[in-house]
This record gives sequence, C-alpha cells and structure tokens, in this order.
Amino acid sequence: MARVNDHYLKLRSSYLFSEIARRVRAFQDAHPDARLIRLGIGDVTRPLAPAVIKAMHAAVDEMARAETFKGYGPEAGYDFLVELIAKHDFGERGVTVSPDEIFVSDGGKSDSANIQEIFAPECVVAIIDPIYPVYLDSNVMAGRAGAARDDGRYDRVVYLPCTVENGFEPPLPERHVDLIYLCFPNNPTGAVLGRAALRRWVDWARREGAVLLYDAAYEAYIRDPEIPHSIYEIEGARGVAIEFRSFSKTAGFTGTRCAFTVVPKDLMGRDGAGQAVSLNALWFRRQSTKFNGAPYVVQRAAAAVYTDEGRREIRSAIDFYLENARIIREGLEAAGLRVYGGKNAPYIWVKTPPGLGSWDFFDRLLGQAHVVTTPGAGFGPSGEGYVRLTAFGRRAETEEAVERIKTRLAR
Ligand code: PLP
Repeated sequence: MARVNDHYLKLRSSYLFSEIARRVRAFQDAHPDARLIRLGIGDVTRPLAPAVIKAMHAAVDEMARAETFKGYGPEAGYDFLVELIAKHDFGERGVTVSPDEIFVSDGGKSDSANIQEIFAPECVVAIIDPIYPVYLDSNVMAGRAGAARDDGRYDRVVYLPCTVENGFEPPLPERHVDLIYLCFPNNPTGAVLGRAALRRWVDWARREGAVLLYDAAYEAYIRDPEIPHSIYEIEGARGVAIEFRSFSKTAGFTGTRCAFTVVPKDLMGRDGAGQAVSLNALWFRRQSTKFNGAPYVVQRAAAAVYTDEGRREIRSAIDFYLENARIIREGLEAAGLRVYGGKNAPYIWVKTPPGLGSWDFFDRLLGQAHVVTTPGAGFGPSGEGYVRLTAFGRRAETEEAVERIKTRLAR
C-alpha cells in the first residue's frame, strides 16, 4: 500500500456541514410537514445577468466554428479579460495593477488554497478567527499547521481572534509570522476594515517581512465610500500583499467558475540563501504547471461583467442581496438579538442569547422557526457564541424566515 500524506489525517472532519445536514434530516423526519428555510448556505440564488448570458452564447457560437474555435488559452487568462480587470477593478480606484500581475483562474477557493505552495513549509501562518476554513485546511494539508490540539486549534498556527470586544478587527500578531490570511469584507462576520486598519496591517507586514494574503471576494458588497475595495489602495501594499478576487459573489458565478489573483511584480520572497525571488514569477510557474486556464466561454462571460449593461445588472443583483441583508439585520434586531455585519457584506453574524452556544441556538432556530443557519463555531474557536445567516436567499423566503424568528423565537 502506498503511504498517504499524513497531514491529511490531521484535518478535522468536515464536521460542520455533515452535522448540520444530520440535524436537519433528524428534524425533518420528526416534523415532515415543517417547511424549512435555509439561510445558512453561502451560495447565490439569482441567475446570471442577461449581459453575461449573451456573451456566453456568443462565445459558444465561436467555439462552434473552425475559424473562431479556441483550444488551450493563456494559463493566466486572456488579454481581453485581464485588461478589463486592470482598468475597471483597479485603475478606476486609482490603483495601478498591470495585466501581467493578474492571474485568471477557476475560483477563489482554489487560488486561496493553492497560494501556500509557493512558500516554504516552515513559514509560520496566521489566520483570523473565525474565518473561511480553506486557508487553514490547505495549510494543514501542506504540513504547516502542526498538530491539532484539544482546544480546536493547531499548534503552529497563530490565531487572531475577531470578537465583539475588538469590533471584529483582527489584532496584529504578537510574534513574527510569515503569512497572514485576511478576508474583508469578512466571511463569516460581515466585518469590513477601513483605511487606517488596513494601513496598520501593511505597515506591520513591511516591518516584519511578512506577506498578506488578502481575500477580497466580497468587495462588490462594499457600499461605504470610506472602505477600500482593494488592499492596493493602501500605499506600500504592492510590496507586501497578494489579493484574491472572485466573480462568484460579484456576478453569480458560483456554478460558472471564474476568479483572479493579483501578485504584484514588486512583491518578493527570499530563497534559502536569502536572495530575493519574485512571487509573481513563482505563481506564474505554479499556475502554468498545474492549471491550463479558465474556459474561453467563461472568460468571455466574465468580461461581460465590465460592459455598461453588465455593470448595471450585477449592481442590481448585489443591491438585491444587500436589501436581504438589511431585512435580516433589522428583523433580528427587532427580535431582540445582537446582530453584526450585513451592511457592506452579504453575511449577518448573530450573537447567541445568553447561555446558548452556537449549536444550541442553531437547534432553537431550527426547532422553533424552522430556519437553518450556520453555527459560528464551525468557522473557528472564536466563532463560538454566534450563528451566521446569509443574504443570498430568495426575497420571500428571507422575509418569511425573519418573520418566523421574530414571532416564534421564545425570548
Ligand atoms: N473566499 C471566500 C472568503 C469565500 O467565502 C468563498 C466562497 O464562499 C470563496 C473565496 C470561494 O470563491 P470561489 O467560488 O471563487 O471559489
């Protein structure tokens, strides 16, 4: 028998979603007439924008003709798409990112999971807690996390707790770390970081020689003009940060798959001899070895997001989800709950009532309101005491879920 990668055995089982499914099934078996509303999932419900569909159809037709058929494309994305990204996502915000610093991919999940491959196994990783679990698990798989402890943490990972006490803003690490995963607007807390907070991180990373791995998958949900959309809006960030973006939540591409990662050319790591090495060159080498490019049809669809029509349409879909977020936030506040996030993010982070843990409150919402949420503890130890609701649902169901929580939840 071939020896397996032992690090995989250190992963905690995907307890969260299987346990949610188990509890939901048990509830449904006991209450077959109950109509459940799921506000736990992080997937969108609205269809692709008409401009996107039109571009996709046209690209499919191109694939049908010998003269316009496309085989393998450039590993880092077609020029037509990276140029639009550079101009609209960055140029319009006063940020210079050149097309050859942009790497188009099939997802923010794969990019944020794969990026750790270009760093040494001994690099020390910090993650904010609670957080999207991919950053941690990909480092566990690579052997960088160390051993799992009884308290739910790994012994080589530095956890940066984001709690109500610090306004869900991660504290700077108290020791040297090499890589820090930041995600703003945040999944799951819905928190955002302003310019001063981001500047603290950039300055810290410059002092420490650390790299910020900045996940901006939800930047399109920012409505407050004071909140930066890109880490590169902060002076000096090009020398310390990699940024992940995705069309998934921006334009409903969760099932279509397109994202991109920015690795500035000024961003350097060092080799074993202390010589500077370009991270842009390493990531290009990694992608061109292991990835053959996002599909042409999908990249044409993504490019349509930047047309006037596409921008109007995706803006309206995001406004729709943000209105759901408002309905949830205000409704739950009216129900007497303490509610965070949901203003510049599609996630609403709800404090459990006194004495109830994440799973207790999950059970109560399921049992009394027939609403499925996600227990905060599934996103990290500091998520205990919260549940996450998402704004990606259908309007009528969102309204009904809120109404049920308001009227049925025992105070
Ligand atoms: N980053 C964060 C913070 C997410 O919450 C998600 C999805 O839920 C992703 C990335 C994944 O995005 P994609 O669909 O592009 O893989």
